[in-house]
Amino acid sequence: MTDKNIRAGEATVADAPADDARLTFIGLIRTPWTDRRDCPRQGSEDGPECTLVVDEAWHPALAGLEAYATIEVLYWLDRSRRDLLTQSPRADGTTFGTFALRSPVRPNPIGTSIVHLDRIEHGTLTVRGLDCLDGTPLLDIKPDRALFIPKALPKPGV
Ligand code: SAM
Repeated sequence: MTDKNIRAGEATVADAPADDARLTFIGLIRTPWTDRRDCPRQGSEDGPECTLVVDEAWHPALAGLEAYATIEVLYWLDRSRRDLLTQSPRADGTTFGTFALRSPVRPNPIGTSIVHLDRIEHGTLTVRGLDCLDGTPLLDIKPDRALFIPKALPKPGV
């Protein structure tokens, strides 16, 4: 059972999904790449500007994010196959288990990148460092864990 209480200053979205283990897309990602062959294997901070277009219902959830120069982006690699247990990425006979790779081909094709956050305007985040195709569904955004320091650590026993 989930806690329905909210604290002062918090807000909820009307259509939050209730089913366990279902994902909700919070927007989509705009990048210059429409073909996998052009898309980098991993993003880099000197890559091109890309945008995270967050659905309007989730705009309040962005409050405070502008304080972070780097953020973590999670996305759904929607054009991936999902059935490979082992993969030979270099086509040279070297085979790895799917979970030993960062390949987009996996049972739940979640991609993650740490990106540089340039600006946020009307719910659209301009970032550098992505590696996904144009139109990739956006799953989540978090402050970079290396920079995220809780204001107060929990007291022992609390
Ligand atoms: N940085 C993420 C990670 O490590 O979790 C993703 C890495 S994955 C190797 C990036 C590759 O996934 C791209 O080079 C491209 O071939 C592929 N890709 C990008 N967007 C995709 C999408 N929407 N669906 C399927 N494959 C995608």
